[in-house]
Amino acid sequence: MSKYIFVTGGVVSSLGKGITSSSIGCLLETRGLKVTHQKFDPYINVDPGTMNPYQHGEVFVTDDGAETDLDLGHYERFSSACMGKDNNVTTGQIYYSVISRERKGDYLGKTIQVVPHITNEIKDRILKVNKDNKYDVTIVEIGGTVGDIESLPFLEAIRQFRKDVGRENVIYVHVTLLPYIETAGELKTKPTQHSVAQLRNIGIQPDILICRTQHPISKELRAKISMFCNVDEEGVIQCEDASSVYEVPLLFKEEGLDIIVMKLLNLRFGKQDVSAWEKVVERIKFPAKTVNIGIVGKYIELKEAYKSITESFVHAGVANNAKVHLTWIDADDVIKHGAKKALEGVSGVLVPGGFGSRGIEGKIEAIKYVREKKVPFFGICLGMQCAVIEFSRNVCGLDKANSTEFDEKTQHQVISLLESQHGVENKGGTMRLGAWDCKLVKGTHAEAAYGKELISERHRHRFEFNNDYKDRLTKKGLRIAGTTKDSKLVEIVEVTDHPWFVGVQFHPEFKSRPLCPHPLFRDFVKASIEKNGHEKGKKAKHA
Ligand code: GLN
Repeated sequence: MSKYIFVTGGVVSSLGKGITSSSIGCLLETRGLKVTHQKFDPYINVDPGTMNPYQHGEVFVTDDGAETDLDLGHYERFSSACMGKDNNVTTGQIYYSVISRERKGDYLGKTIQVVPHITNEIKDRILKVNKDNKYDVTIVEIGGTVGDIESLPFLEAIRQFRKDVGRENVIYVHVTLLPYIETAGELKTKPTQHSVAQLRNIGIQPDILICRTQHPISKELRAKISMFCNVDEEGVIQCEDASSVYEVPLLFKEEGLDIIVMKLLNLRFGKQDVSAWEKVVERIKFPAKTVNIGIVGKYIELKEAYKSITESFVHAGVANNAKVHLTWIDADDVIKHGAKKALEGVSGVLVPGGFGSRGIEGKIEAIKYVREKKVPFFGICLGMQCAVIEFSRNVCGLDKANSTEFDEKTQHQVISLLESQHGVENKGGTMRLGAWDCKLVKGTHAEAAYGKELISERHRHRFEFNNDYKDRLTKKGLRIAGTTKDSKLVEIVEVTDHPWFVGVQFHPEFKSRPLCPHPLFRDFVKASIEKNGHEKGKKAKHA
């Protein structure tokens, strides 16, 4: 029988339910169990694909082309679980399918209600992720906080779910906060008690409490929480702030979390191996060197919008035994202060994906500088498109070269709308999305990094390299390093006569893992470290 772990949160948001769920998955996997994840988001949008990054942060893209919550990125990074369309479900999707069925007449004239129709749809979605019985455990995270009006149908559904599949097959984990009150010099348990009381009101008694805290929890405090919240003492798990998210599974292991989960769910204890994770954490905590990489973007005050990119740099740091320090550079500052000043002190520059024209000219200016000064460059999606525009303008003399996304009537449309995008009106879920195979060209940086000729990467874009300009650009030293299998779409460009200048139309950041760093991020960081060494050598010579 498949087992289920439901993860809820209380007291405040941003307690790290995603990292908690991921870490539980990670630990169970180190015990030899097969794990999958699901996230319910109580908002009414069908998916986050159309939401403003200021509201939602990064949109994580899966192989099957779903635009999902960034927590799915954590799930994939902490385990070998492969996420897809069924693994992120929103209130919008639930109502959408219930209402569509009602319109078709499937309910035979019944009154459609939250209970049972909406809750049944939620329960069906939970069962769907493990319909082939491939996994031992499904970990389901409920977005939002207990007490939110919009979470209620999900909580009611997971309450019923335990009754449906048997009590021994379900546990509830509640993530909560123990605030530290400076004047009293104490951690306070009352908010946790209230939050658990609220869950109990709905009919859910948590089995495990994950207590976020800035100070260790004393034995007495554990006993108190256990008594007031009606949770066994061993189920009160301390979760202190960690220096790296990848340390959380190890901290949970010390607390015996995997043992209690397996006991409660009657799962067989496999032999455990956490050595790979220990190595990763060791490298993150004690790197041999530091390298400074500049990210030129427009949401720089909003790091959550680039979550997978920042994580990919952590992984690439592990691969290079280095701490990758990220300097966030506002694209507009490149115009205001000039590229030399704005990029001072960075040994490599990344321009990430994005939409809309704000900041474009600053990104292009930064790319011109790093191309000329031979600073390693990595362009992702929009970053790659900007690199093509820059090369067209400044190397090929195509003065007004641009993307039709920013200037529809420009004379040289070096980046233009994908053919499949003509006539597309709906904004939601209509981009070129998900995994596509890409053929690499021998002798390129890309091929050297991947070490093979056929790769698969995830996409999320509407515009592409315009093949009409291929000859003119390649003649001047732009190299096409990867295309779709049919050779029709350009997926990777490189600048020859440069130590490391790579632009990719896809999003490699979605596939990087701490245990398996992405080859392009790895090699970009390596090239940046080399550049740094080179600069230092030059300075020493002059001194
Ligand atoms: N705006 C560009 C496009 O739609 C790039 C998208 C992206 O960077 N994800 O093609």
